[in-house]
Amino acid sequence: MSDVTIGLVGVGKIARDQHLPAIAATPNCRLAAVADPHAALDDVPSYANLDAMLDAHPEISAVAICTPAHLRYSQARAALLRGKHVLLEKPPGATLSEVEHLITFAGEQGVSLFAAWHSRFAPGVAQAKQWLAERQVQRVMIEWKEDVRVWHPGQAWIWQPGGMGVFDPGINALSIATEILPQPFFLRQAQLLVPSNAQTPIAAELAFTDPRGAVIEANFDFRQTGPQIWDIHIDSDGSRLSLTQGGCRLEIDDELIIEAEEREYPGLYAHFVDLVANGRSEVDVAPLRQVADAFLYGHRDTTDAFI
Ligand code: NAP
Repeated sequence: MSDVTIGLVGVGKIARDQHLPAIAATPNCRLAAVADPHAALDDVPSYANLDAMLDAHPEISAVAICTPAHLRYSQARAALLRGKHVLLEKPPGATLSEVEHLITFAGEQGVSLFAAWHSRFAPGVAQAKQWLAERQVQRVMIEWKEDVRVWHPGQAWIWQPGGMGVFDPGINALSIATEILPQPFFLRQAQLLVPSNAQTPIAAELAFTDPRGAVIEANFDFRQTGPQIWDIHIDSDGSRLSLTQGGCRLEIDDELIIEAEEREYPGLYAHFVDLVANGRSEVDVAPLRQVADAFLYGHRDTTDAFI
C-alpha cells in the first residue's frame, strides 16, 4: 500500500487535538505540510493558504480540510481540481447542494472523497448497529448536551450561517443515529432556541418518526455546565440499548458490553487510507440532511444574547 501524504488545511482546535496525533499514529499516512492564514506549526512546513501549500509540496496526495464549514466547498473543489484525494471534517459542507457537487466532481477527477463522520468511529457504534439490524425500534431518546465555552472557545463562526450552533455537536449524534437505526427516520417537529445576537441555535428539541411509527426524540443543548452528556437510549422489543459517553460505552439491558477509550480519529484516518488504496469514496449526507430539515421545518424562539 502506498503512503497517503497529507496536506492539512485549518490548524485550529480539532486539527491540533485530533488530526495531528491521528495522522502521526496511522500507518501509511504522513503529514507533509499545513495551511492556515494565521496559525503555523513549529515542526511542519506551514503556508498561508491551500494553493501555496500545494504549489510547494507536489508530493501531497490528499488534503484534510479542518476549516469552518462555510469554507469547505471552495477548498475541497480546489484540492480535487488538482487531483488530490480529500477528507472533509464534519459537516461535509455548509449546504447539501455543494456536497452533492463535490461527490460528482470527485468522481470525475477519479480521486477519493471522504466525509468523515468521526462519531461513527466511536467504540460502541458498530456493535450497536449490528444488534439493532434485525430489530424493531419503538423509542429513541438522544441527549447531546455540552458547554459551548469549553468545546468551542472564542469560535465566532459557530453562531454565523453555516456554523450550525448546537447542531455542530448535535450532528455527531445524528451521524450515529443515521448509522445504527435500522429504518430511515424523518423530522416531525423542531423547536430551535436562537440567541438574539446569533444566526444559529443554542438549543434544539427535535421529534422524529420512522416508517414504523417509532418515537425518536433529540435534545441538544450548548448551555450544559457540569457533567457533559452525549447519550443515546433505544428501546426495542422489550430491551434497552444505551450508547453513552459519545459512543464509548455500550450497555444492553443494563449489561456492560463495551467500555473503551475514545479513539475515533485513528479509526477515521485508517479508513481514509483504505478508501484511497481501494479507489473508493464515502460521502453520506444523511446527518447533514437531518440538520437541513430542522432548519427548514423548525419553529424558532429567541433567547438571551450569547456573550
Ligand atoms: P477552529 O478552532 O476555529 O479552527 C479552524 C481553523 O481554520 C482556524 O485556525 C482558522 O483560522 C482556520 N482558517 C480560517 N480560514 C481559513 C482559510 N481560508 N484557510 C485555512 N485555514 C483557515 O475550529 P475547529 O473547532 O477546529 O472546527 C473546525 C471544523 O471541525 C468545524 O467544521 C467543526 O465542526 C469541526 N469539528 C470540530 C470539533 C471540535 O471539537 N472543535 C470536533 C469535530 C469536528 P482563524 O481562527 O484565524 O480564522
